[in-house]
Amino acid sequence: MKKRVGVFVCECGTNISSVVNTVEVAEYAKSLPGVVFATNYKYMCSDPGQELIRKTIAEEGLEQVVVASCTPRMHGKTFYNATEKGGLNGYLCEMANIREQNSWVHPDKEEATAKAKDLVRMTVNKVLLNKPLEVQTIPVTKKALVIGGGIAGMQAALDIAEAGHKVILVEKEATIGGKMTQIDKTFPTMDCAA
Ligand code: SF4
Repeated sequence: MKKRVGVFVCECGTNISSVVNTVEVAEYAKSLPGVVFATNYKYMCSDPGQELIRKTIAEEGLEQVVVASCTPRMHGKTFYNATEKGGLNGYLCEMANIREQNSWVHPDKEEATAKAKDLVRMTVNKVLLNKPLEVQTIPVTKKALVIGGGIAGMQAALDIAEAGHKVILVEKEATIGGKMTQIDKTFPTMDCAA
């Protein structure tokens, strides 16, 4: 089934647009299979930018969204939420990083613009394969199993126990302490290792 993809290319003020020709990237995006809408915009994460995504999903009947801007670590949630508010599952939105991985590290405008086009094309192809996902909450058993009673295992077991959780520490040898017990004294305090 053919999907309807919308591509939103962010200028980030001049952070992206001083190096990447965002108008050209948006025009290029329009030529990609599946893309029915593409535009550039000054600040995609601003309220008007998010509103543009929400409005366009409805007006253009978008089924997938691509935002070419910064790293998803910065605004992944912002665009996930904007996509949800537009009526689509948030996982039908993907970001192409044309700032940290492009305009911030490449001085050559022509090459950076070509790379932005590549990143957008790859992200459009990825989003076409995306499926809606549902977030699930799974109950967790607050009990830990630590394998190995050396120094690391003992400390991990103590930390977890001090956090208030039950811990089972498993050691294959007859005693705990691991390699530490084979040492006589430890530098610089010369404490007895055992
Ligand atoms: S979405 Fe990212 S790249 Fe665009 S304006 Fe906001 S911070 Fe800048």
